[in-house]
Amino acid sequence: MTIPFFDAIIIGAGAAGLFCAAQAGQRGLSVLLIDHAEKVAEKIRISGGGRCNFTNRDLDPSAPHKHFVGQNPQFCRSALSRYTPQDFIALVDRHGIPHHEKHKGQLFADRSAEDLIAMLLAECADGGVTHWQPCGVKKIAPEALEDSQSGYRVETDRGPVQARSLVIATGGLSIPKIGATDFGYRVARQFDIPLVEQRPGLVPLTFDGAAWAPYAQLAGLALPVRIATGAKKARMAFDEDLLFTHRGLSGPAVLQISSYWQEGTPLAIDLAPTVDLPEALAQAKARSRKLIANELATLVPSRLADAWAQREADWQRPIAEASDKALARLAEQLARWELTPTGTEGYKKAEVTLGGVDTRALSQQTLECKAQPGLYFIGEVVDVTGWLGGYNFQWAWASAHACAQALPPP
Ligand SMILES: Cc1cc2nc3c(=O)[nH]c(=O)nc-3n(C[C@H](O)[C@H](O)[C@H](O)COP(=O)(O)OP(=O)(O)OC[C@H]3O[C@@H](n4cnc5c(N)ncnc54)[C@H](O)[C@@H]3O)c2cc1C
Repeated sequence: MTIPFFDAIIIGAGAAGLFCAAQAGQRGLSVLLIDHAEKVAEKIRISGGGRCNFTNRDLDPSAPHKHFVGQNPQFCRSALSRYTPQDFIALVDRHGIPHHEKHKGQLFADRSAEDLIAMLLAECADGGVTHWQPCGVKKIAPEALEDSQSGYRVETDRGPVQARSLVIATGGLSIPKIGATDFGYRVARQFDIPLVEQRPGLVPLTFDGAAWAPYAQLAGLALPVRIATGAKKARMAFDEDLLFTHRGLSGPAVLQISSYWQEGTPLAIDLAPTVDLPEALAQAKARSRKLIANELATLVPSRLADAWAQREADWQRPIAEASDKALARLAEQLARWELTPTGTEGYKKAEVTLGGVDTRALSQQTLECKAQPGLYFIGEVVDVTGWLGGYNFQWAWASAHACAQALPPP
């Protein structure tokens, strides 16, 4: 039996795998794209609330540390500067996909993420990509090819296949119910490629049940905050919306900070970042007979004002009768709410996986393993994690592009 041969086999038909397959196919390589999931690109389908926030105009390829987390954020500079948000927007425009900019440079499809999936599949068809899905992968091994060059043999549910190059695009661990696995990390271990420890990122944070009880009544409340974590040089802060949940905190502010938060350390939240609270409360004291909670409700959402005022007996009286000290404490605690999460909602709710294949093991130009020629890792499986807002997809497109341009032609 002759074993089917391809110039490149790509495992994982998500954002990075589809894009890499299309680009390599369009360069004239024979490409086999394999994915074990029933449905193609399910993560793109659910992304951005079903509208896929596919890139971000604010991305600065010359300063990737601004929007990317990892042991070496400079690693992604080469790929990001060779395939920019403008390049991807031009592709989306060529396919006539209507889109719009939301908040802070984030670009979304007007209709649905399905438009992006259809675009990627059309690009793969243009490149003559062979796409096996669903198809499991049982084993991969290096193998000398007929021309005595090195290559890889992959045992799949549809039989063995061979290729000169093997690209791992199997993503991270988040949302296991739609097909996420640790496949990429297992391949890395098989070839002694170092890994950076993985943990959930862009994830809601949870708090101890009893300690959280006073705030659980605020579930569903959203408000703009300034949230910060870390000390001195490692201090990170975001001005975004916070969402109270039954078990803790979510919303863009918390998802962003979660990628920087270290277990056991506190968060500092300013619940009224645009208000001069000491001044506003002093003025209210001079002119008002209302309860503190009622005056506070003109400065922050009323549900928060009510819950906050219940925390101290001194705050449950008319503001005119409150001591200056009690009002100063109230202002200080709202502006600097310190709390230590007990954990995260984990991979079932995380948008991304922090950590992954150690970038020191990869070429930043090609994403090829330095010690394992012909083996490439692209997309989220690599220790490169973007901020919320389209940065993770841009990394998927850019790393896929860098790899596709470097794959040896037939
Ligand atoms: C709810 C949610 C919303 C998101 N929204 C956004 C957004 O709007 N903007 C943004 O930039 N990012 C968003 N992200 C993050 C973004 O989806 C990922 O960073 C991106 O999809 C990573 O691309 P990837 O190709 O590396 O991995 P994926 O897109 O996850 O693709 C990996 C593929 O590998 C396949 N696979 C896994 N294991 C195996 C195996 N053992 N054998 C064969 N195939 C396998 C999977 O089935 C999957 O198809 C979101 C994530 C989630 C979970």
